[in-house]
This record gives sequence, structure tokens and C-alpha cells, in this order.
Amino acid sequence: MSDKRAFIRFHEKLMKLSHDPEFTNSTRPEKLAALCHLCATQLQVDRVSVWRFNYGRDHLLCEHLFDRQYPNGAPKAPPWKRDEYPAYFARLTHARVIDIQDVYHTPLFQPLRTDYFRSLGIHSMLDAPVFYGSRPSGVVCLESRSTWRWQLAEFSFAMAIADIVSLLNTHEAWTDSKRKLDHVRYYDRLTGLPNLESLRNRIGYLTQKIKRRGSGQFALFWINLDRMKIINEGIGASVGDLVINEVAHRLADTPLLGKDLFAHLGGDEFVLILRTYTRPDALLAAARILQKTIKQPIHINDQPINLSAGIGVCRFPEDGTEPPTLLRQAEAAMYSAKNRGVAQLSLFDDSIQATAQSRFALERELHTAIKNHQLEVFYQPIFERSGTRMASAEALVRWHHPHRGWLTPATFLDIARGAGLMYDLGECVIRRVCEHLRDAKIADTRLPVISVNLSAEQVQSPGLPALVAALCAEYGVAHRQLHFEVTEDSIQDASETVRNTLDQLVRAGSELAIDDFGTGYSSLSRLKALPFTKLKIDQSFISDIPYDEDDCAITQSIFGLARGLAMSVIAEGVETREHESWLQVRGCEFLQGFRYSEPVPLDTLITEFL
Ligand code: C2E
Ligand code: MG
Ligand code: MG
Repeated sequence: MSDKRAFIRFHEKLMKLSHDPEFTNSTRPEKLAALCHLCATQLQVDRVSVWRFNYGRDHLLCEHLFDRQYPNGAPKAPPWKRDEYPAYFARLTHARVIDIQDVYHTPLFQPLRTDYFRSLGIHSMLDAPVFYGSRPSGVVCLESRSTWRWQLAEFSFAMAIADIVSLLNTHEAWTDSKRKLDHVRYYDRLTGLPNLESLRNRIGYLTQKIKRRGSGQFALFWINLDRMKIINEGIGASVGDLVINEVAHRLADTPLLGKDLFAHLGGDEFVLILRTYTRPDALLAAARILQKTIKQPIHINDQPINLSAGIGVCRFPEDGTEPPTLLRQAEAAMYSAKNRGVAQLSLFDDSIQATAQSRFALERELHTAIKNHQLEVFYQPIFERSGTRMASAEALVRWHHPHRGWLTPATFLDIARGAGLMYDLGECVIRRVCEHLRDAKIADTRLPVISVNLSAEQVQSPGLPALVAALCAEYGVAHRQLHFEVTEDSIQDASETVRNTLDQLVRAGSELAIDDFGTGYSSLSRLKALPFTKLKIDQSFISDIPYDEDDCAITQSIFGLARGLAMSVIAEGVETREHESWLQVRGCEFLQGFRYSEPVPLDTLITEFL
């Protein structure tokens, strides 16, 4: 057969194979087998194989081998090592084809690297490197047991096969990177679970399918872990990640009838889709199973961590028919559960809808109130141990809402936090306190030291000391008239910034107290490293004194700790005569609570306590 006719026929066969749907739909090993087989039958060679470089590029590994002597599958070919065939490996990097008529007399396999050929009875070979970009990634190898003078058509065919393998590799690399990209786009990096994007897609798919069919239902469970912030900040974010991962896998493995997609939205939030349920109580039963799963203690570094979660549930189509609405309703139901405390459940209903809407309206109004400096401050006196003389007063923010009247922090601080308004709110409070101090001075009234609560957003801001100094200057207030309270939560991550901010406030004349002490995970070393001089025992420890033995023991040990750190103690939430005398006997330096006074407007503070 002339070279030209052979050339055309080989290529026709190759085209036919590579466009055959059976070939294009087959797996990589099947494709390589088909290519090797076609090559061997067309060119009448004894062996055809495809090889690829290992990761270090010092070995060639055989991926597929066709050997005419073994029609049912040839024994596996051993790898070729670069240090055994250095000349051959060097040639692979730049040759388009390596053509050897006599393998026993070629400098490529010298000295004496011919055992491989001898054992297989091979005389001639024709190799075409497979390129990936400009680098060879493997080789297509044709071997003949008789001495063979390779023709141009055979060169071209071997190279064409190598090109097809190269195309296969490129295509696989592309789909692989696309798959990785999709993974980043649709899956959460920490837990490997589907993310919000996947969840939205899935809800979109389900709603459309059910609308088209005219029947069907599903429910969304929005799960939010309680106390995750405290764990993250108190024990460390890496432990927090372990906890989230453990919860994610437990929930993913929890068997529930009709369980569909389970997504991790990031942080401590998860959403589950449940497709089969009959009545609302079935949904609540399912939510309780999820809560029970979360409640099993998690052991990390031999330390048991107890978790709980708030879960909000909404249904398609009863509570919404569009994906964004459904997600919003489920989240609102979760918020309503969280508002009732830890480990609560809520099924979406009209009252939740109203709350969600009013929450949104409140956020807008709060924004305006802060911008226009309309927030007010009440004062709660802090008494000396005797309980008869006011030592200082704590400033507590209040909002006089145009329709709702006086609002306490419980109704709006969470909203401010969610809307990123805490820093501005804090500025508004310090400004109002300075204004009050200035007005009192003008009226010749001596106010006690005022203790202002600082939020995490404030202590984490390097600009805070300058702001306080500027406000003191603007209103002619001595810096030492202002003390500050910082909750344990906000100093958990005692970064350089936090330390600097606190140090500067102290250097300017303020004293600092740790607020709500006992509720977080402050370590002793962290307490020692920060410039606090007072410690406020959280009111939850005081309320059951002297009847609750645990609370008494904890409070007692806090006194010991404070003494060790040379800090004075303020008890908050002192409501009864029993609270007072128990604390007085144990030497508590300062007392604050409804026993003495609720937070009151400045006028009342002046007329009743000065
Ligand atoms: P806190 O700083 O621990 O303030 C004490 C809270 O306990 C006040 O609630 C006070 O009214 C209340 N309280 C005082 N005595 C008693 C008592 O005997 N029994 C009971 N059951 N409660 C008592 P309030 O004013 O609602 O403030 C709540 C929290 O909001 C404060 O807790 C503080 O963390 C935060 N907060 C208030 N004002 C501000 C502010 O200007 N900035 C910041 N960042 N947080 C503030
Ligand atoms: Mg306070
Ligand atoms: Mg407190």
C-alpha cells in the first residue's frame, strides 16, 4: 500500500473512532484501550502502549498496553525510570517522534539497557511523546517483534494518536479544574457541605418542579447554634471550627424521612430541606430530633462542650412560594426561636412575619435616631458597701421611640449590632453623658464618676481613645470623670488593638471594669494582661444567693480571684436584703441593683441621690 493511501486510510479510521459517540462517552481507560487496539490493528504492530509521567517526572508509568500475544489483556508493564534510560528521557522532551529500527544498537539504550526488549522479544519501536502545552506528559509507544522500517504514514498515525491522548488530558484537566471551581462555588470550605448558593438552586428547582406538577410540599429548617460566639472567642476559633465540623457531620448523618439538601451557610448557621411530612407537629418532631443530635456533648481535647440550637421552620407553599421569601421566613422563625432563649423551636406564622417586618422598620428608625443624636441615657447608682452612699453611676442607653415610648437595650441593641450601628450608638452615648456632665457643672451640681458601657465594636476600634478625648475636650469634661465597662465577651480576642485602646483610655485617666463577669471564658492570664481595676459579677450569680450553693461558691471564688488580682468587686442585680447582707459580709466593695434604684433619668439621680 502506498504511503499516501495508507496515510488517508489510517486517518479515516481514527476520525471515525474519535467521533463515535460510544467512544466519546466511554471512560478514559476504555478510550485508551480503543486507541491502542486501533493502532495495533491498522499498523500491524505487536504492542501499543500509552505511558504517563509520574508526579516527580522521573518515572514513566504504563496506563494501557495492548499486546497481540495476550488478546485478553497483557501483563502489566513495569515503570521506566529516568536514571535507567537518561538518554531516552532527554530525547522525549524535544522529539516529536522517536523512531528506532534496532533497539539493540541505538545509543539511546546504551550501555546495555536492553533487558526489557530482550525479555519481550522486541526489535523495533516508534514512540510519539504526548504533550501538555509545551511539555511532554507521556508517550505513545509502538513496538514490533520483527525488525521494522517505520513508514511516514506510521509516524503520522502514532503522532495523531499522541495528539488525541493529549486532547483527552487537556479536556480532563479542564473538567477537573471546573469541578474544583464548582466545588468552591457550591460547597462550604470548612465542612464540605453545600453552601447558600447550592441551597438557593435546590429551593428554586423544588419550587418550580412542584408548581409545574401542581402538588407537593417541603419545609426549610434554619438551624442556628447557641453560644457559638462565646466558644469561638473564649476557647479559640480553631476549636470553634472543630465544633462546627462535628455538628455539621452529625446533622448530615442524622436519618430523617424525606431529608433533602443539608447546607452550611457559614458560621453557626445551617439549613435543612425536608420533603416528606404530613402535619406541622411532624415538623416540630423532626426539629426536636435535630436538637437532640446537637445536644450530645462534643469532646475536644478531653473537654466536653455542650451545645444547643435555635431552629426556625417554614413551609412551601403555606408560608411562601418564592425561594427568597422562604429563606427569609425560615430565618425570621429562627430569630423568633432565639428570642425565646436557648434550644427553642419556632414554626413560621403571621406574628413572626409581623415581628420580622417591625424589626426591619425599627432598624431604619434606630439608624435615624443615632444619626440625629436622639438616644437618651439613664443612670443607675452604684453604692458603697454600706448601701447608703452613692459611689458612682452607670450610664445605660434608652431610646424614646416616637410611638412605642421608652425602649430598653433588650429591644434594640441586637438590631444595632446586626446593622453594624454599635460604634455610632456608643459615640452617641458618650456624647450624651459628656453633655450631662457639662450641664451639671454649669448648674454647679457635682455628679459622681459615670461608668459607660463599651461594645466590642468600640474596644476593637483604634480610634476610640481619640474620640473620647475629643468629646471630653468639646464639653469641658475631665477624662477621669468617665469610667468604662467592657463585657468579658468583647475582650475575648485580646488583640494588640484591644490592649492599646484600653491602655490609652487608662493613661488618659479612666478606670475600667469587666462587666458580666463569670458568663464568658476569660482566662486569668488575659485578665492580668489588661488594665482592669474592677470586676462586676454578673447578676445571674447574685439572683439566687444565698439559697443556691453553686452560685454562692462561684461568687465566693470570684472574690478570691479579684483579691489575687488586686481588683475591687461590684455586685450587680442586688435586689433583696438577703443579697445585700450576704455580699456585705463577704466584703463586696460596691453594690448595684433594684434594691437601691432602677436606672433613672439624670434629674431623678440628682434629686434623689446627690
Ligand atoms: P449591664 O451593663 O450589665 O447593665 C445592667 C443591666 O441590669 C441594666 O439593664 C440594668 O437596668 C439591669 N439591672 C440593674 N439592676 C438590676 C436588678 O437589681 N435586677 C435586675 N433584674 N436587673 C437589674 P439595661 O439597662 O436594660 O441594659 C442591659 C444591657 O445593655 C447592659 O447590661 C449593657 O450590657 C447593655 N447596655 C446598656 N447601655 C449600653 C450602652 O450605652 N452601650 C453598650 N455597648 N451597651 C449598653
Ligand atoms: Mg454595665
Ligand atoms: Mg452587667
